[in-house]
Amino acid sequence: MSPSLLKVLDGENLAGLGERMHRFAAELYPICRSITGAGIRQTLAMIGERISLEVSEVPTGTAVFDWTIPKEWNIRDAYIKDSHGQRVVDFKRHNLHVVNYSKPVRATLSLRELQPHLHSLADHPDWIPYRTSYYREDWGFCLSHKQMLALEEDQYEVCIDSSLEAGNLVYGECYIPGRSKEEILISCHVCHPSLANDNLSGLTVATSMAELLSGRYLRYSYRFLLVPGTIGAIAWLARNRETADRVRHGLVLTCVGDAGGFHYKKSRRGDAEVDRAFAHALLHCGEPSEVLEFSPYGYDERQYCSPGFNLPVGCLMRSVWGTFPEYHTSADNLGFIHPDQLSRSLRLCVSACDVLENNRYYLNQNPCCEPQLGKRNLYRSTGGESIDLEINARLWVLNLSDGEHSLLNIAERSGLPFSAIGDAAQLLLENGLLAEAQRVPEHAKQE
Ligand SMILES: [Zn+2]
Repeated sequence: MSPSLLKVLDGENLAGLGERMHRFAAELYPICRSITGAGIRQTLAMIGERISLEVSEVPTGTAVFDWTIPKEWNIRDAYIKDSHGQRVVDFKRHNLHVVNYSKPVRATLSLRELQPHLHSLADHPDWIPYRTSYYREDWGFCLSHKQMLALEEDQYEVCIDSSLEAGNLVYGECYIPGRSKEEILISCHVCHPSLANDNLSGLTVATSMAELLSGRYLRYSYRFLLVPGTIGAIAWLARNRETADRVRHGLVLTCVGDAGGFHYKKSRRGDAEVDRAFAHALLHCGEPSEVLEFSPYGYDERQYCSPGFNLPVGCLMRSVWGTFPEYHTSADNLGFIHPDQLSRSLRLCVSACDVLENNRYYLNQNPCCEPQLGKRNLYRSTGGESIDLEINARLWVLNLSDGEHSLLNIAERSGLPFSAIGDAAQLLLENGLLAEAQRVPEHAKQE
């Protein structure tokens, strides 16, 4: 068995880890990211100072399945100035003020001419909306509704100092080798500008998880994939088509820093081992949670779970995208994500990985009636959990270890946490009462 990652994590200062993740989110927050350009490069470089990251470049114009890598977008400045020379909307004050991927513009426009290019939220008059125009060349500004209402008849000087030129799309990969070449994929989008929950929460939790796993004795290899949403995942799949089936379990990680309870969206397969591992981890995490069925709308699980790949990739969120009012607005800021929520999201991911790392089939070596635990000194506590839980877990493992029930099956059926079942199996193995069953692993059966 692999050493418990959860025990390693619980030996660390979780509160401190949460603060560290939040501070890292604060460092990344001001950067104007997009699906290409300097912002995403800078973000990957900063993550690369913490974990070993390989950055790939895909040139503009490259065909990736039905899509084409777009021109690279970079922006230096953008503003709307009134006739007194005052910047009434200023990209330098908030990068959400410009429609992401706006083409360069220099013009003087009346308010009427300007208005079709302005976006605001009447329901939340202090918030700036987040808008993009990746695949149709356009330009625009986003502003609070209060700012919008304050605009008077005037001649406005409009400037978007951006460039849309042949370049590259970039994405980052952190590969942590395990004993097997079979992989656990953790995928995060890295293309949103100053948005904290939708983007930075997943990135900071994934970075901390990669730091925790690096150098450990692991069953699976882990691949942390930091990609621009949609086009990045499609580009990665196009370039790794032949080896994508190494992904045995996968997770899209996003929106994991807000105060909401957990939501795990199942993979397209619906009964993949990763789906069951997360459902189990959620059941025992002590927080409100809900497991959602797969749907073909959402984050990059849409690509991983497309029928040509059908990879077992689920999606973990706290509040579900699009359901909280702060979603895709300036209110999804650093105050909307919390150190405690980040650290507990990390802990949940680690506990699900612990299940995957240690889920195996065993054979009871003494199947005719219960073995006498007392004479082996196994009818007492080792001091970890309560004695009832420990002994109960040993009895469940012995009873169901017939080669047909995995440890996850036993945890599900007994209602006991996988950690207790895993500890019991380890102890019984050490005492010669269990042996590993040679059989096809659970995830391979599903193909
Ligand atoms: Zn988003």
